[in-house]
Amino acid sequence: MVSILEQSKELSSSIIGWRRHFHQYPELGFNEYKTAEYISSLLEEFGVEVQRNIGRTGLVGILGEGNPCIALRADMDALPIHDIKTVEYASKVPGVMHACGHDAHMAMLLGVAKLLAGVNLSEGSIKFIFQPFEEGQDKDGVGGADAMLKDGVLDGVDAIIGQHVNAELESGVFQIKSGYFSAAVDTFSGEITGKGCHGAYPHLGIDPIFISAQVINAVQAVISRRIDPLEPAVISFGKIHGGTAANIIPPKVELDGTIRSLNPSVRSILQKDLERAFQLSRNFGGNYRLKIIKGYPSINNHSELVTLLREVAIEILPTEKIIEGGLGMGAEDFSVFSDSIPGAFYYLGVQLNPATSHHAPDFDIDDSVLYIGTAILANAAVKFLSREKKL
Ligand SMILES: [Zn+2]
Ligand SMILES: [Zn+2]
Repeated sequence: MVSILEQSKELSSSIIGWRRHFHQYPELGFNEYKTAEYISSLLEEFGVEVQRNIGRTGLVGILGEGNPCIALRADMDALPIHDIKTVEYASKVPGVMHACGHDAHMAMLLGVAKLLAGVNLSEGSIKFIFQPFEEGQDKDGVGGADAMLKDGVLDGVDAIIGQHVNAELESGVFQIKSGYFSAAVDTFSGEITGKGCHGAYPHLGIDPIFISAQVINAVQAVISRRIDPLEPAVISFGKIHGGTAANIIPPKVELDGTIRSLNPSVRSILQKDLERAFQLSRNFGGNYRLKIIKGYPSINNHSELVTLLREVAIEILPTEKIIEGGLGMGAEDFSVFSDSIPGAFYYLGVQLNPATSHHAPDFDIDDSVLYIGTAILANAAVKFLSREKKL
């Protein structure tokens, strides 16, 4: 085990170099053409078999044959943000930036492929999944993980592991927990209709702004009165629009928002009760339209994979660098994979001083610790393949 850590450390400058290359040439979701080409040529150079165009711009590297088979996943897409950093590896593409750390995920996974291509796998195989478009979905609601799953990327795969760098977590820290790790996300788009009229004569119309206020309040009651207090749930209105002038009651108000939950049963209560809150519009003489756009499920980390990853981390890191937790109400489409087969997802701390935030235009990470992510994934894959007990 120590040898893979040492090899990862020796590979550190290459990993940093790859990450900084990706950082300079970011591409948006489902447009990761040059990124995929760069990865493919490196994988082939390492002696890893490459399958292109899995999930549109995604690609897969394969080492070994048959089962057990473990998949390791990195995402490839950047964000529509203009990089304001002045470092020499800042984005060279105006308005596009790796502001979430997916550049680091690709670089770490390339490191794993290089290391394991030089190891004789006793049995089974490893799939290196380079997934496009994690940050969103196309107009038909298809994200990168959905597209790859549809193309059969998990066929014959027994388990999957993914990691995310975390710029708000002390550098070099490994953070994981069993069970829920990210939230399910659904989006809604609503419209409350009334009847427009003069603001001085409200009785002549039906005021959709007043009705919206009742609906918004009722939605808060869904969270506080309808959901088990021990179950996390969020409904946030992020966009509300109605009206054109101070003295006109408008005919309609548009309300959009996000729904977050962990437990699938809570997820369905939230959707049903959001609809019931909107139905209040009819009690006030108005009407409504509500569209709920289904997003990703929550990540529910498989306990045996978490145990395996923790064992690996203990061999690599001092105990104070291994911490429990990581659950937040953010979403991550790794859940599309881990909903299909046993999966586990963890954070690697990459905090700079001063720290930067994900999705911010000055986002940057401490890339000197990326070799740790490579070592953890590589060791976890080897350990998984040599396990006696199957999942
Ligand atoms: Zn992100
Ligand atoms: Zn991300």
